[in-house]
Amino acid sequence: MSRTNQYWDAPAEALSRDELSALQLQRLIKTIEQVSLSPFYQARFRECGITPSSIRTLEDIRRLPLTTKTDLRNQYPYGLLCVEREKLVRLHVSSGTTGQATAVFYSRHDVDHWADLMARCMYMTGARPGDTFQNLTGYGLFTGGLGFHYGSERLGLLTIPSGAGNSKRQIQLMQDFSTTVFHIIPSYALRLMDIMTEMGMDPKRDLSLRIAYLGAEPYSEEVRRRVEDFYGIDVYNSYGLSEMNGPGVAFECPYKCGMHIWEDAYFVEIIDPETLEPVPDGTLGELVLTTLNREAMPIIRYRSKDLTRILPGECSCGRVHLRLDRIQGRSDDMFIIKGVNIFPVQVEQVLMNIEEVGNNYVIILRRENNIDRMIVRVEVTDRIFVEDMRHLQRIQKKIAHDLRGELLITPDLELVEPHALPGTEGKAVRLIDERRI
Ligand code: AMP
Ligand code: ZN
Repeated sequence: MSRTNQYWDAPAEALSRDELSALQLQRLIKTIEQVSLSPFYQARFRECGITPSSIRTLEDIRRLPLTTKTDLRNQYPYGLLCVEREKLVRLHVSSGTTGQATAVFYSRHDVDHWADLMARCMYMTGARPGDTFQNLTGYGLFTGGLGFHYGSERLGLLTIPSGAGNSKRQIQLMQDFSTTVFHIIPSYALRLMDIMTEMGMDPKRDLSLRIAYLGAEPYSEEVRRRVEDFYGIDVYNSYGLSEMNGPGVAFECPYKCGMHIWEDAYFVEIIDPETLEPVPDGTLGELVLTTLNREAMPIIRYRSKDLTRILPGECSCGRVHLRLDRIQGRSDDMFIIKGVNIFPVQVEQVLMNIEEVGNNYVIILRRENNIDRMIVRVEVTDRIFVEDMRHLQRIQKKIAHDLRGELLITPDLELVEPHALPGTEGKAVRLIDERRI
């Protein structure tokens, strides 16, 4: 492949490390000047004695204060704005999976740059004009809808804004317009598999799908494998958050070994969430991001609460942009039961490796007589219920055994039939902690 064929935006994607660092420093200084226009950062910088001239090297970023979700909430709605109201063209509101929502504003420059980042992501995975792109995620305030939509149009794909839900119509659209590329939340991708199976469809035979982008919630390698095998496609992990535009922050290349974070647009740090000190590459910590090319609402050192690590070494694709490991979860998703710290995705990883396990599950935490119980309610394939009881017991034993191996505790299991658990087209609720209710 020639160089121009390989990159959507070669001047940004094909930089050397030195060129990238120089660009980052230049953009960081500009960002400090820009955020100093917001009432919030004006006050913060005054407290810390920071001016744009305080930043001489990229390491100096550590002198800047961290920004938290609480800061964003407290400044709702306009406290972080850095341009006049007339320059704003878009408002998104974070889905607020945990607590009150936050507002993010975009100028024309911001929407444009975001579309370029998204086009870059999709091009990197092989999407090209001539492809039909179906966007099966919620539009509206959720950034996943419009983010991908603008990127797809920028790239020149035929774009179907089908939104989430109405699965039969989604499948019809895929058939009628030979959809080749789609974007979907992982839990909905799994549900759609059940629906297609029920309809007697085999997407490998009946559809033209080749690529899917899955993101917006944590999922395991095992889910990627299931989705790839069922649809006969390549699945690429897509990461983003509203505070940093939305999707298009980090994305997998064809090597699928971590998500390249676009360092010309975001400065990345991984810190220890307790000490707030940086951790070495390869070590798990909290992702902290700084926007480097935003006008309306730049954000400095934002604590994402997402836990991940920087993968050391270079990617075979040649891009020097650092790679993030699969997001393990948000620090608020982690739960503690019988003294053990667990992320829902660890449970998923075990379940989805077992052939007889279906495509949906939920974890319930309950306190009874002052004793904590963890219940894993999991859909299993139809077959199990028609076969004899001994088989059912064997599967139950296997799931319990494998979960114990990963979690070090044995949860109570409830095996249910396919579709017994409520499905969702948006982000799935994998954990119900009744101890908090
Ligand atoms: P929101 O801004 O409401 O759309 O939510 C953004 C959050 O979704 C991130 O901070 C992550 O916790 C989660 N998220 C987005 N993409 C991924 C992904 N690929 N893997 C895991 N979690 C993700
Ligand atoms: Zn790569």
